[in-house]
Amino acid sequence: MKTINKIDECRVAMQELRKQGNKIGFVPTMGFLHEGHLSLIRMAQRDCDKVIISIFVNPMQFGPDEDFKKYPRDIKRDTSLAEKEGVDYIFNPSVQEMYGQDHKTTVEVKELSSVMCGKYRPGHFAGVATVVLKLFNIINAHKAYFGEKDYQQLVIIKKMVDDLNLDIEIKSGPIVREEDGLALSSRNRYLSGVERENATILYRCLNIARDMIAGGENDLEKIKKRVLEELEGNKFVRKVDYFDFRDPLTLQEKRRVRRGEDGEILAAVAAWIGNTRLIDNIMIKV
Ligand code: AMP
Repeated sequence: MKTINKIDECRVAMQELRKQGNKIGFVPTMGFLHEGHLSLIRMAQRDCDKVIISIFVNPMQFGPDEDFKKYPRDIKRDTSLAEKEGVDYIFNPSVQEMYGQDHKTTVEVKELSSVMCGKYRPGHFAGVATVVLKLFNIINAHKAYFGEKDYQQLVIIKKMVDDLNLDIEIKSGPIVREEDGLALSSRNRYLSGVERENATILYRCLNIARDMIAGGENDLEKIKKRVLEELEGNKFVRKVDYFDFRDPLTLQEKRRVRRGEDGEILAAVAAWIGNTRLIDNIMIKV
């Protein structure tokens, strides 16, 4: 496995792989790797000849009061995990290497970026889209892999690829969870013991919604009210940013289940357990 820090070197290495006829799979990450990341790496290995991951904590996608500085980083541990997994390349550029002194361009995927997490994290998805486009241009992979954990991000990246005619195939992998249902996240390490225990409430609430829909309830506002009572009744939940039902493709909000018309409905939640903002979602078959 080779770690590359420089853009030019990465370009040359990837061009060489292409020349040799390799299919390149790319997994973008912010590091502090866990089984969620590793599941995407394994997907990429099944589809492609060579796998490159990026490890880059992207300042552009963090708000001024967010956790960019304290976001967990451990490149040594990540390197050894990636090596064990059989990754071929790690691209681990510095902020200076990626943005220089005078970066002025951003990519904005309109509408999709201003709902759900976008409403509470203004500028976040422009930061994500911009860095992902930069990474796509540097690496020029055949396929890129994203987790459904960040469902809105996945929809936005797919839209960007489509709108900008990018020559890359976007693949997605299911959410990897702890045994008790908590979705794996690098941010879970911020949680104290009791917060960690109570953090399963997000997934529990998503399942309450699923069960109510399976039980015949069509009024999504009613389900939302029930779920918000549950969330807000837990003393470790400091704040609920949203609990929404959305169309999986357009991310338009849904207020009623239309049996026979709706195939699937996305249920998504963002809530603060103490000072840690967690997100989760499930797809509900109607
Ligand atoms: P991050 O390092 O948090 O930016 O995540 C990098 C990629 O891993 C993104 O595509 C995430 O959606 C994906 N990912 C993060 N957590 C999980 C998880 N629990 N299950 C599946 N994919 C995940």
